[in-house]
Amino acid sequence: MKYDRVYNFSAGPAIMPVEVLEEIASEVLNYRGSGMSVMEMSHRSKVFQNIIDEAEADLRDLMNIPDNYKVLFVQGGATLQFAMVPMNLMKNGVADYIVTGAWSEKAYLEAKKYGKANLLATSKDKNYSYIPDCSDLPVDPNADYVYICENETIHGTTFKKLPNTKGKVLVSDQSSMFLSKPCNVSDYGLIYAGVQKNVGPAGLVIVIIREDLIRKDLDEIVPTYMRYDIHAENGSLYNTPNCWSIYVCGKVFKYLKKIGGLSVMQKINEEKAAILYDFLDNSKMFRGTAEKEYRSLMNVTFATGDKELDAKVIAAAKAAGFDNLKGHRSVGGLRASIYNAMPKEGVEALVAFLEKFEKENLV
Ligand SMILES: *Cc1c(COP(=O)(O)O)cnc(C)c1O
Repeated sequence: MKYDRVYNFSAGPAIMPVEVLEEIASEVLNYRGSGMSVMEMSHRSKVFQNIIDEAEADLRDLMNIPDNYKVLFVQGGATLQFAMVPMNLMKNGVADYIVTGAWSEKAYLEAKKYGKANLLATSKDKNYSYIPDCSDLPVDPNADYVYICENETIHGTTFKKLPNTKGKVLVSDQSSMFLSKPCNVSDYGLIYAGVQKNVGPAGLVIVIIREDLIRKDLDEIVPTYMRYDIHAENGSLYNTPNCWSIYVCGKVFKYLKKIGGLSVMQKINEEKAAILYDFLDNSKMFRGTAEKEYRSLMNVTFATGDKELDAKVIAAAKAAGFDNLKGHRSVGGLRASIYNAMPKEGVEALVAFLEKFEKENLV
């Protein structure tokens, strides 16, 4: 393979499009005649202002973000949003959490520090292998929002249908599915995504928030950096942002526009996932660990049921050029993260490898 790259199935930081990496490489010493790289540039410069403006405009275009939503570029990872969301949105001090895996569980536990976080529904009874029925949940009349993690990166499940929030604002952690398919932004009050899963380099989270949810009457104790109003009023430049990540994400947005946008991306992602899931559904050695109806397009979790055999496949796969297939310790087995940038050939090659392994090792 060109550049001697492996097929990288990491859950995050994760694979990025080669075309984008090449373009960055060509600009790393001198960004478009500025005489410096984006890493060395003032965030107050005109050149950088253009970079961040274009990144926002391209994202708005890709996702069709309505004008009454702000796009914010924030640091602190998705984890900081676990606290920022309740700190900023809990006006009544109440929120409903749907807990479907490790990430929504963390968000729920964090929210409890700032107000009354209700456990509205959970799938913990079956180790988060499914999404509970969310069509008629007992939403708290005082809830400021209903919270979900739309794609659980560790457990490999995803919401195929958004919950019925009974008129309450929906907040969604889209970290591991952001830009994997079209998204109707107006179904949400707030969407956020750590970009290191499906978009770009770590250290940046993108927040898309409906304007009327941005409050100015926050408790004085809320740290300045953790106020959405501060980021919104300052165009994400209140302090030094992650300039490099914003620049690289901007390139990925352009790349996605070039290939035809999010519906084209969705079609490719569905094809890729089908190749792997079809193999798992017919395998005598491997089985998917998430329930069929709820399984993720992005994070495919599977296992042999035998820890030693799992370890043997992972080691053999690594030797054959398929890296980062070890499942998270809470689920075990294997996990193939097949984000936007994973080419179809990568998934086909992985399936061919697993088929061969199965033939050679099935007793
Ligand atoms: C990785 C991940 C997080 C945590 O992201 P950090 O940027 O490491 O804080 C949160 N939610 C989801 C769904 C994730 O996949």
